Amino acid sequence: MRTVIKIGTSTIAHQTGQLNIRRMEKMCKVVSDLKNVGHEIVMVSSGAIGMGVGKLQMKKRPKDMPTKQAAAAVGQCELMYTYDKLFSEYRHTVAQILLTRSDIDHEDRRMNFQNTISRLLELGTIPIINENDTVATEEIAIGDNDTLSAVVATTVGADLLILLSDIDGLYTADPHKDPDARMISKVEAITPEILALAGGKGSDLGTGGMATKLRAAQITTEAGIDMVIANGEDPNILYDILEGKDAGTRFMRRKRA
Ligand code: GLU
Repeated sequence: MRTVIKIGTSTIAHQTGQLNIRRMEKMCKVVSDLKNVGHEIVMVSSGAIGMGVGKLQMKKRPKDMPTKQAAAAVGQCELMYTYDKLFSEYRHTVAQILLTRSDIDHEDRRMNFQNTISRLLELGTIPIINENDTVATEEIAIGDNDTLSAVVATTVGADLLILLSDIDGLYTADPHKDPDARMISKVEAITPEILALAGGKGSDLGTGGMATKLRAAQITTEAGIDMVIANGEDPNILYDILEGKDAGTRFMRRKRA
């Protein structure tokens, strides 16, 4: 089974932008174990800008493009260094891939990406993808890693996309405001009613929110891929999801007639 796992900045970093070491260690341990079971795993990891913010000791996430790009350039090194170190402890090898929208839109480049990913998986590695933030300005960026991970999942022919974030799943109302809000465990079709549940943006350090997650669900389910939104607080949730147990919100792929 080929699974794309997207990890949001809120899962990787503390509010300060500094690495959440305990979380990352658990995440890499669980993903290594799933590789050992025989799963093919591609990761899409945010956190470059967030970690750059931490490393450069900025007070908050910058708003202007050059500073964001500079923070990403610093943070991406830190991010991959951390993954490389932690996965190495379990004898797994990581590979970095940085993409922008034009790489996906351009047929030759998309094919090169597909070929490289296939070979990296054959070689037993864990490809870790992020947007190439240092060259992607707003006009050419995919913009958020929820959408990027959905595009990656369809391009690499994944069976499942898992979005790990700081929320448990999709709720019937904002759980911070409405005590009656309940989590929806299964979404059979992305109706206008479901889209209306999108609410606002997520954390201060990341980019996405529920709206980009539902957009990702539309892209993947249309392409015949299931998608799960789950809380990355406890990475063990990945075992449940891959064993088909109830965890987070699962968006069912569209069945072709
Ligand atoms: N590419 C951005 C980063 O690594 C994250 C985008 C997102 O959070 O969706 O910081």
